Amino acid sequence: MVTVGSDVGVGFLDLDDVSDEDLELREQAHRIARDVLRPAASELDRMEPEARILPGSPFHEAMSQLKQLGFHRLFLAPEYSGLPTTVSAIGQAMVLEELGWGSLGLTTSFLTDMLPFVSIALFGGDRLKADVLEPWIEDVDGRFRGCWAITEPDHGSDFLSLREYAGVEIPRGQLVAERSTDGWVLRGQKSAWVSSGPVATHAAVHAQCGSSGDLIHGLYAVVPLEVVGVRKGRPADMLGVRDDPQGEIYFDDVFVPDENVLISSDPFYMVFGDQLLCLTSSTLAPVAVGLARAAFEEALVHARSRVQGGRPISDHKNIQLTLYSMFEKVETARAYSRRVYEHVRRASLVGLNGESGQDSIQRGGASPRHARAAQIFTKRCAFEVAHDAVQVCGAFGLSRDSLTEKLFRDARCLMIEDGTLEVLGIDAARDLVSNYESSEYGIEEVMAQW
Ligand SMILES: Cc1cc2nc3c(=O)[nH]c(=O)nc-3n(C[C@H](O)[C@H](O)[C@H](O)COP(=O)(O)OP(=O)(O)OC[C@H]3O[C@@H](n4cnc5c(N)ncnc54)[C@H](O)[C@@H]3O)c2cc1C
Repeated sequence: MVTVGSDVGVGFLDLDDVSDEDLELREQAHRIARDVLRPAASELDRMEPEARILPGSPFHEAMSQLKQLGFHRLFLAPEYSGLPTTVSAIGQAMVLEELGWGSLGLTTSFLTDMLPFVSIALFGGDRLKADVLEPWIEDVDGRFRGCWAITEPDHGSDFLSLREYAGVEIPRGQLVAERSTDGWVLRGQKSAWVSSGPVATHAAVHAQCGSSGDLIHGLYAVVPLEVVGVRKGRPADMLGVRDDPQGEIYFDDVFVPDENVLISSDPFYMVFGDQLLCLTSSTLAPVAVGLARAAFEEALVHARSRVQGGRPISDHKNIQLTLYSMFEKVETARAYSRRVYEHVRRASLVGLNGESGQDSIQRGGASPRHARAAQIFTKRCAFEVAHDAVQVCGAFGLSRDSLTEKLFRDARCLMIEDGTLEVLGIDAARDLVSNYESSEYGIEEVMAQW
């Protein structure tokens, strides 16, 4: 049984100035979300974790189709994207919303897939670009696939709450990089929640430098995973986002050459980490808006057709008010998240404005509290709207035959993915208290917080 839900079209007013190119891109993203992501996500949702990653599974087909349409080039500068100009920030946010509308899990996988390769575009040398980035750009068969290996069994929220450790002992990581001739040797493991981990060929890895170090003194490297010493755990079996294969990665003395290490020196590593989290927060926000909109539309379509008390339930005032409140959340979440998305793209390490990755880190200008606010607000809206959608749909909303049931489970996972709401909030609050007057961040400002 494949449950793809309703498609009421892109039925909202564009309050932003958008170009014809942006609209065309959104239309393409909407089509693939409706025709490919939703059916694939529905099938994957009912499959056993191991079966979801086998060759020929709907997961691989969906990823291939996204790449065939070139969506993996979304964040790349024109020299790599093959497009005449960089896609505008609003255009990117629109695409992310449509993909999130199609499937949170597949979109999460697709975004984490990009991270090692986009990082190479920004920070890598010529050989990495030729041997890894360019083949990944051309590949549509899944020969190159990425993931982001940051959290560890003992360190989930710790990576986000480092500001809290100011003045107290900072935790030691579980993945340690020891210096060796011309490179580093990795020992340890990452958590069972790494999105795309079970299918990835390359990981963007955070590791602590030296066994006597701590989480703040680390490196960020692109590590090939099909080498001796890398092992993977079983794919996780989760409540939601079951269309995103998650799993742990073990590193048993894995050698990483210097050229694969993109960021290693203090204080760049921490500034980079701070700015990277601004980037991931602002990227997940439009995806969350897409999920919220999907839930709102499911409820609206159901309320218009379901007759109780002799009339469609959408005639009842309580249902009307619930639908309005859902709409209000989707609209405000979209408006705020787009503003923040534009800000982070302009201010942070995107390097899309012709600036090198290293230069834009030095500038380090994206505002953590605004990026976290976008993520927290949109995730909360997505959960509240999905929760209301279940109520509007009644028992049907609890049934596995409805898309609403899946959206609700996915929205619940979203409140933990990429940082729990609480820890994101605590991190934003610390930034707010310390830096409210400052709108520009640089290395000194970020380092002053540790
Ligand atoms: C769908 C999904 C996708 C994911 N994808 C990836 C991925 O691609 N790569 C990756 O590396 N990881 C990934 N993760 C892991 C994710 O980043 C972590 O789950 C998240 O950061 C929370 O960490 P944790 O699960 O270990 O919870 P914990 O850190 O154990 O937190 C448990 C509870 O304690 C609270 N808490 C923890 N620390 C503090 C504190 N200092 N102050 C106050 N309260 C605190 C939390 O708010 C939470 O309620 C993913 C997770 C999910 C659910």
